Amino acid sequence: MSDPVIQEIKSRLDIVPFVQQYVRLAKAGVNWKGLCPFHSEKTPSFIVSPTRQTWHCFGCSRGGDIFKFLMETENLEFRDALKQLAERAGVELKREDPRLRTERERMYAISEVAAGFFQLQLAKNPAVFDYLKRRGLTDETITGFRIGYAPDSWDSLWNFLRAKEFSADEFVASGLGIRSEKRADSYYDRFRNRVMFPIADASGKIIAFSGRIFERGKKTDEPKYVNSPQTMIYDKSRALFAFDKAKDAIRKKNRVVVVEGQMDVVMSHQAGVTETVAVSGTALTARHLEQLRRLTDTLVASFDADEAGETATKRSLDLAAELDLNRKVAVIPKGKDPADAVLENPEVWVKAVDESVSIMDFFLGRAIKKYSLKTPEGKKDFSRYLLPEVSKIGNQIEKAHWVSKMAELLGVKEDAVWAELKRYERVIDQPSSFSVESQGAPKLKTHKLEERILGGYLLYPEARELLVGHDRLLLFAISPHGEIFEALAGAAALADDVTAMLARVPEEWRDYADRLIFEVEALFQDVKDARAEIAACIREVERERVKERLIVLAESISEAEKASDLARLQTLLQEFKQVAEILSKI
Ligand SMILES: [Zn+2]
Repeated sequence: MSDPVIQEIKSRLDIVPFVQQYVRLAKAGVNWKGLCPFHSEKTPSFIVSPTRQTWHCFGCSRGGDIFKFLMETENLEFRDALKQLAERAGVELKREDPRLRTERERMYAISEVAAGFFQLQLAKNPAVFDYLKRRGLTDETITGFRIGYAPDSWDSLWNFLRAKEFSADEFVASGLGIRSEKRADSYYDRFRNRVMFPIADASGKIIAFSGRIFERGKKTDEPKYVNSPQTMIYDKSRALFAFDKAKDAIRKKNRVVVVEGQMDVVMSHQAGVTETVAVSGTALTARHLEQLRRLTDTLVASFDADEAGETATKRSLDLAAELDLNRKVAVIPKGKDPADAVLENPEVWVKAVDESVSIMDFFLGRAIKKYSLKTPEGKKDFSRYLLPEVSKIGNQIEKAHWVSKMAELLGVKEDAVWAELKRYERVIDQPSSFSVESQGAPKLKTHKLEERILGGYLLYPEARELLVGHDRLLLFAISPHGEIFEALAGAAALADDVTAMLARVPEEWRDYADRLIFEVEALFQDVKDARAEIAACIREVERERVKERLIVLAESISEAEKASDLARLQTLLQEFKQVAEILSKI
């Protein structure tokens, strides 16, 4: 990618803060390190280089530049990534023919136009606006979340979109419209008489809607919430309501507050708890949690002071346990949801979140209150209440902690608690996304050595002269190492920094070369003298190659002997002597 526009965008955007919007990164030597957003892992193998403005994952071998990162995380085509990054960098792209726009862009466009339409309708309907104000929403919140209203009509949105030249196919594909089953070529609005909450992707682009019925009771057969169906740009199992607004706060405060409804999210943000998100029309999935886990290791859910039964929140927390997230509970007064709590007094909610306790402490406190630990029956009920919770904990050390704690409270041996716990242990089928990816066939020693030499050559200017005067074929026998070296060695100024060197690598091999640099950086990060290490690699690879040559020569010599080919034998022995001499000098 050598297009000047692309270079301009790259020069204006720093990859580290950009990636940090999606992944929690910690400084690791010259680089930054975090949990890979593209495969499931518990120890970080995802590295970002601020010097080269590239990233690489040692777990799944993905890597590239800022464009590749955005394309992979948001599942975008290059054109879409280019648009987004150009906008962010303030680089203007040439205007293009609207007919050339991708289908995906049309979906973003129709969602954006619809959001504007709903906002306009809200302004025109004071009754709805008053209702929102009564629920405690401020003007800023209504505008900030782009809350709107879908009129009580079958075709007002459809007529509006038609006038903006969106087709019936686009109307249906976006999930905003429904094709009539009764009449051919007839379409109607999915959302009618509803308060509309737009759902955005991580970058803030609207991708779907959630509509809450306005004035419930007027039409009792209508569901309370209607959500967009899955579309080309909306994937329920991935999208989180308000994630675009919450992601920075989630990373900074290192916690995410998960609530159940849009109103809860909006009111929570209004109260200053801006790290709040919700799912819509689905339970929290492993994919949602994977996405959140890249930014934080702590999930806070709200529980009603009294019931903590089989709610959606509880199931979400169980899933979070499997993923080894810290789970906390914000306890709010009886019969209230977070939106009610904020309406009454924002401080109540802020305090509940700040004082959230770990879920096991919450259950333990409740069990101690509920059951007597003095009678055998009480002890049995106590353990029956707690053991299912303990069994869900993914981390074995944490699990052992609670077993020991329970044994202490019950006045029994830990073995007894462990034995009882076994009865509750569920066999959890590991989903395929958790399987360890194979690292491919093990590499030959010489292959690894070549990678280190070439990576070191690119990374350390002081090591470059080490390669001068060496037989290239002896050093680099594996493609494309020799080709890369060839392309660099001719013109290379030996003092150039790694970025300049990488830029000179022919484009087809640039990602590969970048990966080699990441590997050398990781390998030599604690090494004091990288130059000496590389010198050792060169010696080693040459020795291996010469040994290989000697083995081949020895075989040829024994063949020549068998064939009594004296002339050939003479030449081969001569050569063997020379090569053996080289070996002794390496
Ligand atoms: Zn990975």
